Amino acid sequence: MTATRVLVLNSGSSSVKYQLLDMRDSSRLAVGLVERIGEETSRLKHTPLTGGGATSREREEPIADHEAALKAVAEELATDGLGLDSPELAAIGHRVVHGGLKFTEPTVITDEVLAEIQRLVPVAPLHNPANITGIRTAQVLRPDLPQVAVFDTAFHTTMPESAARYAMDVKTADEHRVRRYGFHGTSHAYVSREMAKLLDKAPEDVNVIVLHLGNGASASAVRGGQCVDTSMGLTPLEGLVMGTRSGDMDPAVIFHLARVGGMSIDEIDVLLNKKSGLIGLCGDNDMREIRRRIDEGDKEAALAFDIYVHRLKKYIGAYYAVLGRVDAIAFTAGVGENAAPVREAAVAGLEELGLAVDGELNSVRSDEARLISPEYARVAVAVVPTDEELEIATQTFALVRDRNA
Ligand code: ADP
Repeated sequence: MTATRVLVLNSGSSSVKYQLLDMRDSSRLAVGLVERIGEETSRLKHTPLTGGGATSREREEPIADHEAALKAVAEELATDGLGLDSPELAAIGHRVVHGGLKFTEPTVITDEVLAEIQRLVPVAPLHNPANITGIRTAQVLRPDLPQVAVFDTAFHTTMPESAARYAMDVKTADEHRVRRYGFHGTSHAYVSREMAKLLDKAPEDVNVIVLHLGNGASASAVRGGQCVDTSMGLTPLEGLVMGTRSGDMDPAVIFHLARVGGMSIDEIDVLLNKKSGLIGLCGDNDMREIRRRIDEGDKEAALAFDIYVHRLKKYIGAYYAVLGRVDAIAFTAGVGENAAPVREAAVAGLEELGLAVDGELNSVRSDEARLISPEYARVAVAVVPTDEELEIATQTFALVRDRNA
């Protein structure tokens, strides 16, 4: 098969992130980002990676919509001889946030598939519409090419009902498709497999707790390669303390804010999704800034850090209990990969559970997957950089290659 390139598209409401990969060696040919689509100050940043040194090009001009954005991306790629009309392009892989219960695997997009993604908009009102726009636009650009949807929820569809159901009236829950779906699945799948590789074991033979700590954050319990629990639920609001989201709280807080605080449902939605978590607690959502403030003796930042770590520790304990036997804990994403103090604090005092972090190993900075636990520790603790784009490209290519075989 000569077509070995995959374009990965991650379409948000006003942005498109993209990567072009060559699946012969999983190398990146180009990466880029279009931001502020629909505004006067749109920006495209494109970085070709084929010619040795990476030199980015930037365009600042109004980009009206996703179609204009993808056309601009196609132009930039063509400038580097990587145009979307190339016969080497095998497929376009789309990140789709919500696949509900139906999509348990990456799926070649047909009209029916698109209609089902559309049907899920009520449970993913912020994300699925943007993903659909990205897919439709890419279809216009290359109607002949397979387009593949890779779902954030798919990895979590193996969760047992005991973990996936909320304890509420079953009829009401089913009528409105209220249950725990989980997100960041592409990352949890990739990182749990890479963790097994680091231990030189097959994924079937290891139980892993994955802690994906980015601006959004989630934990998952993975038994023998299959997800058995995860911290995000119907939406990404549940679970850990995040950059701007509250994570777990008594749902009655919402009634209280509405009845006593006089807030509207939309205002509470914005409060809990955009103005809570670390930013709500201390005014900053960037862990670097929070650590800097703590070093200067800032009490508000220190409390925000403690609340963040306390929740993280509770999930480690909970998933330890869910799994029964834990072989490894993997820290990943922006905070998990870079913030050594978070990793250290999250497992501090858990020696009885076989958990420890070696101070020296923990302070090493590297892009590679690496163990940070001391040799004597019963459970391996590791930093495992995530790579969602590579995972989407790998899954997309596997699907179209099989179809063409
Ligand atoms: P997302 O994909 O959810 O937007 P990322 O996984 O890129 O997020 O993580 C972004 C977050 O990672 C930042 O908000 C910041 O808190 C944290 N982060 C990034 N670099 C560092 C660093 N060097 N030290 C500590 N935290 C960092």
